[in-house]
Formats: sequence, C-alpha cells, structure tokens
Amino acid sequence: MELANTLYGRGNEQIDFLRTVRWIDEWFTLVSAEHGVTAPAGMGRDAERVRMLRDCVHSLLSAAVDGRIPDKVPLERVNGFAAAAPTHLRLDWTGAAGPLSRWLDTTTGTTAVLGRIATCCIELLTGPEAGKVRRCQGPGCSLIFIKSHPRRRWCHPSCGHRDRQARYYRRHLTPGAFQ
Ligand SMILES: [Zn+2]
Repeated sequence: MELANTLYGRGNEQIDFLRTVRWIDEWFTLVSAEHGVTAPAGMGRDAERVRMLRDCVHSLLSAAVDGRIPDKVPLERVNGFAAAAPTHLRLDWTGAAGPLSRWLDTTTGTTAVLGRIATCCIELLTGPEAGKVRRCQGPGCSLIFIKSHPRRRWCHPSCGHRDRQARYYRRHLTPGAFQ
C-alpha cells in the first residue's frame, strides 16, 4: 500500500515520489526504517522494475477500491514478481523453545524485496482487510488506506482536518465574503 501511495494525485496532476533513482533509494531507506527491516542498498538501480511493480499494485488496489475487476496485465505482473521470489518455511529445533519455523527467501537483492511486496499485495487483497481498502476523501488527496475503524474516511488525520475545514468554509462562507 505504501508503494502504491508513492503515486500521488490523479490524471495530469500526478506526483511520482519514485521519479528518480535517488528518490527510490531514499524511499526504501525511509520505509525500511519505519518497518524495522533492511532493504538492500541501491534499490534505485532497478528503477524500472520498482516503478512497474508500483504501478501494478496501484492499479490492483484502485480496482479493489472501485469494486471492479482489474486489467489482466497488472494482475499477471504482480503474480510474476511474487513468483520470481518464492519463500519457504524452515524448521529450527535446537533449544528449549522447541520447534520454531521461519520464512526464508530463495532470492536476494531487489528481486527478493519486490517479490515480498508483491506477495503482501496478494495477501492484502485476499486477506481479512480486503474489504477495508479505501481512497482518502480529503480535498485533493487520492491516497489509499485501510479503514481501521468504521468512521475513518481519510488516509491521515491531517486530511480529515483539511476536509472538515473545507466543508466548514463551504457552509459558512458565500462567494465574495472576503470583499
Ligand atoms: Zn489523504
């Protein structure tokens, strides 16, 4: 979802937060720090594939928000990214804690990272939160978020604040009020 949200706005007013190699590197550094994981350095070297996955995830999540069936191309591409980085369960059983399992990647570098993101996208669209994917109602905002409580309508409280403000002004101010 965060990857999809690197494309901000709609139509001609779109802003791409992954538009340069440096921006891609910085975005992955920032997001990995937030999630307490390490992304391999130099994700930007694979800029084309990063942006392709982003566009595909964005179009699948948009289809989910709009309640329609997505195009085949993004669907197949996301499946392709996931298939390129299969994971498998590994069993560890050495200490008093007993048998422990963990998921292991079979690939490294950008392929592993993009594969994991594609897998997350599939899990999100088919998991318990699938029906909660929404587009922000804030003025001028188009970000996608998960509706974490029934009344939530914005990607972030600041969008909610701007939305309420915009409505207040629409209600209380008539055109020419400042003249
Ligand atoms: Zn928003």
